[in-house]
Amino acid sequence: MPALPDKRTDFIEWYLAVVEAAGLSDKRYPVKGMNVWTPYGFRARRNLDRVLIREIEATASEAVEFPTLIPETEFAKEKEHIKGFDDQVYWVTKGGSNDLDVRLVLRPTSETAMYPIFALWVRSHQDLPLNVYQIVNTFRYETKTTRPFIRVREIHFFEEHTCQVDEAAATARVQSNLTAFGRMAAAFALPFVPIRRPDWDKFAGAYYSVALDIPVGESRTLQIGSVHHYRENFSRPYAIQYETPEGTTQFVHQTTFGLSERLLGAVIALHGDAKGVVFPREIAPFEVVVIPILSASSGDAPAKAAAEIVARLTRGGFRVHLDDRNDRPGAKYYYWEMRGAPLRLEVGGREAAARTASSVDRLGTRGSVTLDTLEADVERALAAFDGALLAKARVEFAAAFALAGSMEDLRDSKYVRQLAWCGSEACGHAIEQAIDGGLLGTPEGSPPLEAPLPAGCLVCGESAGLRWALAARPL
Ligand SMILES: [Zn+2]
Repeated sequence: MPALPDKRTDFIEWYLAVVEAAGLSDKRYPVKGMNVWTPYGFRARRNLDRVLIREIEATASEAVEFPTLIPETEFAKEKEHIKGFDDQVYWVTKGGSNDLDVRLVLRPTSETAMYPIFALWVRSHQDLPLNVYQIVNTFRYETKTTRPFIRVREIHFFEEHTCQVDEAAATARVQSNLTAFGRMAAAFALPFVPIRRPDWDKFAGAYYSVALDIPVGESRTLQIGSVHHYRENFSRPYAIQYETPEGTTQFVHQTTFGLSERLLGAVIALHGDAKGVVFPREIAPFEVVVIPILSASSGDAPAKAAAEIVARLTRGGFRVHLDDRNDRPGAKYYYWEMRGAPLRLEVGGREAAARTASSVDRLGTRGSVTLDTLEADVERALAAFDGALLAKARVEFAAAFALAGSMEDLRDSKYVRQLAWCGSEACGHAIEQAIDGGLLGTPEGSPPLEAPLPAGCLVCGESAGLRWALAARPL
């Protein structure tokens, strides 16, 4: 196996190579941007979904599933929305050899599939809030270069849609989503910053959009999700209204929360290293890989001890894999480092005799476990690994940002820049031009760097409307 490209200097090449070498997806499917999920990659995806489901359901959201096809008549009801997706949708125009009377859109997202039905479900204030989510595949005709998990045409999409009594309740739901995302991101050891997008970059049809961004090095960020407040922008065209306790009729205020397999891409991008992928335990296809080290002198003792370890850890609820292939131990270590297994247990003749196993975590920390206290020892090693991974990610996160005190600073490509902005679109575009990227918007909550806000906008020097903003290059 050739060495991976240098992550620091050739990030994209490194990313593509590591996804390939770790066997997470097969890119040979003959439609661009539609990759095949391999058994190993699918395990990671299922673990990703498990965390999303756990955390969203903890906030009183219920799973639903709506159809993949949306009639053009419904799709076209919200004008900004259809304008935003015009160039990105796939159309179904025929059923067999018959032209369809009403063309059908392959859902790029499900507002226009759900909202005609929400109008039937929501009648009274007692029907609110309506919080539902689905995890389905969506389709977008992506014209930029596609990348596995990061930019694809068939998207494994998590979307929550809610209806609330008023604007304040919808604002509270946005905050609740941000908190839920904080727990999801913590499970994957991903430090992130929620950023309210500028108006020219918000979601099509949204009142405002909060994007969830992570820095991935060299002044670049990756958007790994978003939360949107729609106000009444969709409830009016779709007539989603309810009767208040006073007997009047009101339109609902809506929110959405979107995530995708980009989270898996982010885990790979952020934690991966020169040896391959590094999975936090929650998303790892296997948390523990057990490798018996056979030799003529030790007979079948290592194999027996390894089998006992696997059986006990499986019973204890760990995702564990026995690698008993007929291959050199060194080749197996390399293989599981590339695939990102958090913890490896090695059992040779000496360990088997002492009823222990040597442990090595994916960050290289060595230790040992004893069979007497196997489950507790493994739990401790995995928790320590996750803690170390998060600490490392936080250090890298903090180092990714720098203040920009002048337009000249923006041309330096090493950092995501935090700067003072007056909020005007003209100054925003000047910033984008200088950094050759995007003005990400205003941090929701505290900015990544604690500093006193400068006296004026970085571009025009005005103090009216001044706020912190972040700017970065696109990935
Ligand atoms: Zn300005």
